[in-house]
Amino acid sequence: MNMIFLGPPGIGKGTHGEIVSRKYGIPRVSTGEIMREEVKKGTDLGNDIKSYMDSGELVPDELVINIIKKRINQKDCKRGFILDGFPRTVRQAKELGDITKIELVVNFVASEDEIIERITGRLTCRKCGAIYHVKNIPPKKEGVCDNCGGELYHREDQEEKAVERRMEVYEKSTKPLIEYYRKEGVLKDVDVEGGKEEVSKRINEVIKDFTESRGT
Ligand code: AMP
Repeated sequence: MNMIFLGPPGIGKGTHGEIVSRKYGIPRVSTGEIMREEVKKGTDLGNDIKSYMDSGELVPDELVINIIKKRINQKDCKRGFILDGFPRTVRQAKELGDITKIELVVNFVASEDEIIERITGRLTCRKCGAIYHVKNIPPKKEGVCDNCGGELYHREDQEEKAVERRMEVYEKSTKPLIEYYRKEGVLKDVDVEGGKEEVSKRINEVIKDFTESRGT
């Protein structure tokens, strides 16, 4: 099952991607995470992309496309995958379509106020990458990851200025993908306002409908 979780930054694609990944036993592939890892390790690629990421700009298509090609060729993606944060431009979507068949695009829909609130309140674990929210998904102990005890931090690209830029970039470059995939007949909208459990249920329904309709 090859899926894309599509939607503005900070809307919960990562959180729900992880839940679905565990349920179906297919990996969640996040280009943002792969690239943050490169930055952390200080590789040549990491050094090239750091400034784009910190300021909320998109990393050039060629670089991200190469990363995704390598990643989805790996063995664990054979039975399918959930793409989170890729594609982000029509060019990326077209190139993805040349190398694999996308069967379902789950489109995360929320109001702008909700999006801003979610993204600015978000905390990330420095060690394992787990995601929290000061209000919606608070850690048991402030500043400490429930999973691994790592330190929680506010990602640099989630400061207000970068958030605004990421939203602009989303509107201009990524939003057109909604129509792109709607035309391909693979897009399903999911309202993601409300609690995590409720949203998770809605996403599961959409995936279940899809798997039943194709007879698996
Ligand atoms: P994310 O973790 O998906 O929110 O991504 C964090 C940042 O990584 C983005 O703001 C971009 O700078 C970069 N990034 C992640 N995925 C892509 C992509 N598909 N195309 C271009 N840049 C990306």
